[in-house]
Amino acid sequence: MDDTLSNKIAAGEVVERPASIVKELVENAIDAESSSIEITLEEAGLTSIRVTDNGKGMSRNDATLAFERHATSKISNEHDLFRIKTLGFRGEALASIASVSKVKLWTSDGETEGTEVHIDGGAVIKQSNAAFRKGTDISVEQLFYNTPARLKYMKTIQTELGHTIDLVNRLALSHPFIAFKLVHYGQTILQTSGNGDQRRVLNDIYGVAVAKKMVPFSGENADFKVNGFVTLPEMTRASKNYMTLIVNGRWVKSYTANQAVLDGLHTYLPIGRYPVSVVNVETDPFLTDVNVHPSKQHIRLSKENELFSLLKIAVHEAIKRSIIIPDAIKNEPVKQTPSEQVTIWNDMYPIREKKVEEEISLPQFKNEVEAIDTKYIEEKTFYPSSSNVVIESDRPEKVFEEPAQKEDATPKKEKRFPSLVPVGQVHGTYIVAQNEDGFYMIDQHAAQERIKYEFFRDKLSKINQDDRQMLLMPLIFHYSGSDMVKIQENIQSLNEVGVFLEEFGPSSYTVKEYPTWFPDGEATSLIEALIEQVLESRKTDIGKLREDTAIMMSCKRSIKANHYLTITDMERLLHDLSIAENPYTCPHGRPVLIHFSTYELEKMFKRVM
Ligand code: ADP
Ligand code: MG
Repeated sequence: MDDTLSNKIAAGEVVERPASIVKELVENAIDAESSSIEITLEEAGLTSIRVTDNGKGMSRNDATLAFERHATSKISNEHDLFRIKTLGFRGEALASIASVSKVKLWTSDGETEGTEVHIDGGAVIKQSNAAFRKGTDISVEQLFYNTPARLKYMKTIQTELGHTIDLVNRLALSHPFIAFKLVHYGQTILQTSGNGDQRRVLNDIYGVAVAKKMVPFSGENADFKVNGFVTLPEMTRASKNYMTLIVNGRWVKSYTANQAVLDGLHTYLPIGRYPVSVVNVETDPFLTDVNVHPSKQHIRLSKENELFSLLKIAVHEAIKRSIIIPDAIKNEPVKQTPSEQVTIWNDMYPIREKKVEEEISLPQFKNEVEAIDTKYIEEKTFYPSSSNVVIESDRPEKVFEEPAQKEDATPKKEKRFPSLVPVGQVHGTYIVAQNEDGFYMIDQHAAQERIKYEFFRDKLSKINQDDRQMLLMPLIFHYSGSDMVKIQENIQSLNEVGVFLEEFGPSSYTVKEYPTWFPDGEATSLIEALIEQVLESRKTDIGKLREDTAIMMSCKRSIKANHYLTITDMERLLHDLSIAENPYTCPHGRPVLIHFSTYELEKMFKRVM
């Protein structure tokens, strides 16, 4: 097997895609103690990747050796292999890269004259002296030109660019003392200052909106030192892709470490949401093994359990400390006093109410309710087949039309939704209503979510260009370069949900107007949330964006639990619900109302057997 062939095989392991080449080149620049690294790409790196550093460079001899397999300058004996401090150590990356592309290298150690080397598909075609400052400049062109099968694996430019941006973001986070710059077709996507402040790097990557919601944490035991930043639970993302782990300066992936952070946030984090976080771990390299995979992306850790609990506690304590204050403020007082509520209740059922409390053993009642609840979800029917018994009520009731027995051909909504008379409210959360078929509990929040959802879905399906309000003061939104690339691509989709962004300087947008029906006082957070949705999805589907927007808007405006309603409020809500297209579930699929049929009630009270 000749060298070129074995290099190509190794390339399959190390050089998967443009991002993996960028990784190797940048890691070499980091190992060379550079304080400034610039990465320039054309066509997401497929036609050209260029990495320029100001590190220690190479002598003429080293520059030639660098492309030979296992030509690492970084470890010289077996002892070193167990105490690896540099990012590279296998000495095969440059040889592999050079075997599947056209490479040009300029380098100088600052002592001897510089060197220029050209290699095509692994063969040296030029090697000469060249005037060059201290440092290295390496360009990789026409990637996979001689391995077309591999070229086929490349996804879209956007996907490849996404991988590279993600990578450079993590490398920049791991090395806050290095100034990084990533440029694609002349556009600066990321630029960090290299002043050593990791929080500032977070700001450069994720934008101020995220960075200002991050809290620091730290912890220490005999074997590990951990610190980092994690977002407050109000700023979360839909995937774990925004969680970064850095062990001894190396960005690595570890399910366990992510899980420790998530456990630390447990009970604060909404289901299916993840924080933006960066965790720095310092430990004796002896406790780590990075030689698990050629890409050096995975790490094996001794004493993983100790690290896990240290991290979890550090995150938990930090979040707990930061959350105490906002929570206390958010607990708004109830709108109506409980005594008013009691009055409503007493008007409805002056005597019965107390008895009920005394006579029912609560657990048993609860079981019955659960049984009915399940039945409801399965059958979605509100008309009991069993009984037409009219119960006595202290309140005059609306006469209710008998539902047609066979009504499959007619639209289900208005006909099937029962006409309900509100009776009162439980725990400021559930409306109790009745008709001759029994009583109903309506989750007021779910009901209003459904009503609003249908309203917004309707508005969003046909954005009316005249239906906009101008703002006296434009709203300003800050985003990182990489986010702006993605936003720019989806600007049309955002327009279609009423978000009209105008570029404002290198890292900001302004919004000067938005649709009149945007929820009051929530425009900023709504626009941020919509942009976030675009940033999180791989490909924006306008239908899904509309749907998600309608759901988001409906949640924002809906009356929450612990909100006391007057009977008139309840009547209006029940009316609006009755004309909804699907009044039975909220947009998240939870039931809106539960029916306790007259028959079920009588059974519970053992009036019938
Ligand atoms: P490794 O990084 O595993 O040692 P590589 O194939 O990536 O192997 O690089 C081979 C050698 O080339 C390195 O050990 C280093 O001596 C040299 N080298 C590569 N890139 C640079 C650079 N940007 N600055 C200085 N030396 C470099
Ligand atoms: Mg290397």
